[in-house]
Amino acid sequence: MNNNTLFDNTEIAFALKSDSELERAYFLFKMISIEPLVRIGTAATHFAIKAKLPVEGLIRATVFDHFCGGVSEENCLPVIDKMYEKGVSSVLDYSVEGKENEEEFDAALRITLKIINFAEERKSIPIAVFKPSGFGRIALYEKMGKHDTLTDKETDEWNRVLNRFETVCKTAKSRDVSVLIDAEESWMQDAADSLITDLMRKYNTEKPIVFNTLQMYRHDRLDFLKAQHKLAKSEGFYLGYKIVRGAYMEKENERAEKKGYPTPICESKEATDLNFNSAVAYMMDNLADMSIFNGTHNELSSYYLMDLMKEKGIENSDKRVWFGQLYGMSDHISFNLSNLGYNVAKYVPFGPVKDVMPYLIRRAEENTSVAGQTGRELNLLSKEKKRRKQ
Ligand SMILES: Cc1cc2nc3c(=O)[nH]c(=O)nc-3n(C[C@H](O)[C@H](O)[C@H](O)COP(=O)(O)OP(=O)(O)OC[C@H]3O[C@@H](n4cnc5c(N)ncnc54)[C@H](O)[C@@H]3O)c2cc1C
Repeated sequence: MNNNTLFDNTEIAFALKSDSELERAYFLFKMISIEPLVRIGTAATHFAIKAKLPVEGLIRATVFDHFCGGVSEENCLPVIDKMYEKGVSSVLDYSVEGKENEEEFDAALRITLKIINFAEERKSIPIAVFKPSGFGRIALYEKMGKHDTLTDKETDEWNRVLNRFETVCKTAKSRDVSVLIDAEESWMQDAADSLITDLMRKYNTEKPIVFNTLQMYRHDRLDFLKAQHKLAKSEGFYLGYKIVRGAYMEKENERAEKKGYPTPICESKEATDLNFNSAVAYMMDNLADMSIFNGTHNELSSYYLMDLMKEKGIENSDKRVWFGQLYGMSDHISFNLSNLGYNVAKYVPFGPVKDVMPYLIRRAEENTSVAGQTGRELNLLSKEKKRRKQ
């Protein structure tokens, strides 16, 4: 069994942070731990951006620089290089959200392709990522998932979505770069799942290149994983999955209640945790057929995977197993893992300041609602501040 205090080493966790960056991070987490402040701050920011007030500089110097790598992919390079010196890889995440037109979808495609080309040239970026909603309208995925008949216009539109997925996965395969596809709301996921399964069948013939995401707060995902495994084995392709708990719980529960169907979400946090562990254990039992990207800030989930690797005699650096966290969060997990030779990648969000605001607001809200996590970040930062003063 692993020693469950490994992540407590703050010297390793924050080695890349200067004293002033450490102070800024402490101040930031302190601010976002105060719920009313986040609510007021969010409203004020929305207003200021809409009113075109000059707040970008302020946002950039605070939340943006903490949670994002830069405004463009090139802009992120110093952050990426610095992290890679400590063995932590990057997944460049174009975090512009909520744009629903063809020009924006094509722009997201161009940026994703550029990132894959970038990744091919740099060992520090072994994996690319995109969101299905970046390539097509959510309502269209929903319609496809329900097997509704599409109009001719919608059929063309869907074909363009297919083309975008296809282009990315084909390029990723030719450049030998893995590509993670994020999971979003359950009502768009069926269409995304079947599309991604087709791409796995096509491009995961020698090893996993295309990775789907399983949100383990959904109680149906373990069965889905097992069914996918059966399918992949019978047809001879590899599976790649990013395992996460899931980020849209409130939205899922509210919609289910409003529309009167049973929620897809597990009945409790404990049930989600159990489901998450079961998926990780299942994947580790079948590692010959699949690769896992463990996307979590949960310490126990990270220790659990480390324990399973040890138990099964799997080397820390085995390329089929990745640990992932978001930039600006849980550095104590990322950097202590990389220090031990595990494969670790951080999502590095980037994009124009005003366009990544929805992402930043989610991070602020998440860190407010997951009170334990903010407390944890604050404790670790405070411990490191004290250590440096000694
Ligand atoms: C690298 C990376 C990639 C990610 N990609 C995606 C993605 O593609 N799609 C996506 O949706 N999310 C994604 N996430 C976010 C992720 O789903 C979680 O929201 C976030 O990581 C918090 O979960 P945790 O495991 O880190 O920590 P924890 O704090 O242990 O778990 C919090 C999570 O538990 C679940 N939960 C909380 N309360 C309950 C309850 N009462 N009942 C049931 N479940 C509950 C929720 O999912 C909540 O987010 C990603 C996260 C990372 C680190």
